[in-house]
Amino acid sequence: MTPDQNDLWFLPLGGTGEIGMNLNLYGHDGQWLMVDCGVTFPRPGRVIADGSVHRAGEPPVQMADPAFIADRREQLAGLVITHAHEDHIGAVPYLWPLLQCPVYAGRFTAEILRRKLAEFDLLHRVPIIEVAMGERRCIGPFEVEWLALTHSIPDPSALMIRCPAGNIFHSGDWKLDDDPVVGHGYSPKTFQALAEEGVDAMVCDSTNATVSGHSTSERALQEGLQAAVAEAEGRVVVTCFGSNIARLHTLAGVARQTGRYMGLLGRSLINMSGAARATGVWADGDRLINSAHLGYLLRHEVLAVATGSQAEPRTALTRLAAGNHPDLELEAGDRVIFSARAIPGNEEAIAALIAKLAGQGVSVVTAEAANLPIHASGHPASEELEAMYRWVRPTLAIPVHGEAEHLAAHARLARDTGIAKSLIGRNGDLFMVRPVPGIRRQLVATGRLGFQRGELVPVV
Ligand SMILES: [Zn+2]
Ligand SMILES: [Zn+2]
Repeated sequence: MTPDQNDLWFLPLGGTGEIGMNLNLYGHDGQWLMVDCGVTFPRPGRVIADGSVHRAGEPPVQMADPAFIADRREQLAGLVITHAHEDHIGAVPYLWPLLQCPVYAGRFTAEILRRKLAEFDLLHRVPIIEVAMGERRCIGPFEVEWLALTHSIPDPSALMIRCPAGNIFHSGDWKLDDDPVVGHGYSPKTFQALAEEGVDAMVCDSTNATVSGHSTSERALQEGLQAAVAEAEGRVVVTCFGSNIARLHTLAGVARQTGRYMGLLGRSLINMSGAARATGVWADGDRLINSAHLGYLLRHEVLAVATGSQAEPRTALTRLAAGNHPDLELEAGDRVIFSARAIPGNEEAIAALIAKLAGQGVSVVTAEAANLPIHASGHPASEELEAMYRWVRPTLAIPVHGEAEHLAAHARLARDTGIAKSLIGRNGDLFMVRPVPGIRRQLVATGRLGFQRGELVPVV
């Protein structure tokens, strides 16, 4: 199965029909381009894209089985990573030995990738090519252009993928944030210009296609976070996703305003803030104190930011709730603020964690119950999707990055915005964009690989 010079194909091996472990392939003229290579952290009982149920005791890190492309890796021209979230970048250290191709990424994304590869002793083997926003690169028969969009992590990019057979706009994860607090913003003109040129297909994020309205801007969280911290008399712990550097910047401002010192608890937060510093994304005025000093401050001087918003075992917040964190101990009158929403499947674990904290007299503020917004999604709701379809005006809509209901809602929305045809499929389906649009079901065998952390696939 090899695309010829008239073909432009899209073949997802992971991330279509599910949220997590994105792995996309584009095919033209005998070659393939891979976009993203991510992992998923399934919870026991959670249904996975292929209909199976994750069972307790199965490996904690899972990713798409790349057998299709690993078997023809001489046809793989390169791998582009759109941003540094785990569902897009996490599988690179595990799967690169099977692929052995150059990897293209923006500056912050490349920094995160280097840190991951170093842990696997792969740093000096993987060719990483850093790309700036607005740049164009020829990768095999494709010309890829990096387009600035906004999301919940520094350096997110959308891609315009051009080849002689046609053009595809690959959105990556995105929202329309007019004030993203850190990093580059976006311009509607970028996307309107694509429509002038002609876009055969838009492969686009469906995560929040069932949500009406517009996502909240990062800037709008300042007031709510400030109020939630200012009301607290004792220590404050805020839990959020470590990769959201904009949120950390807002919290550093809140710490200054409320006379508190900010420290980070949890490895991923410390790693992400280090990467932000190394790539110029961290604001110089955002001072952090050594987390080992948090325990020596007066209670009203503490603002700790902790990993574990999803109640994952062994993360900082879980250890704080259990009273066995080495740097800090909570007591009655302290406060924990969830500046994050529950990822579906994690609700029970989070409820148990909240109950444990409340049982110790710690007041808990959740994003759902707060008076003002203290969390913003990084994905487009209906109005943002509609705006993007009006700008890009693709011939075909291909919803990805969602479960079946999200893909269906996304396709309805595209149709209502005037996009006549959508192709809805799932991992292993071959989406033919050119010359004749269509879909061939389950043409490629798909599956999942599971690993323990730090385990490697053999180099072949
Ligand atoms: Zn994602
Ligand atoms: Zn993302």
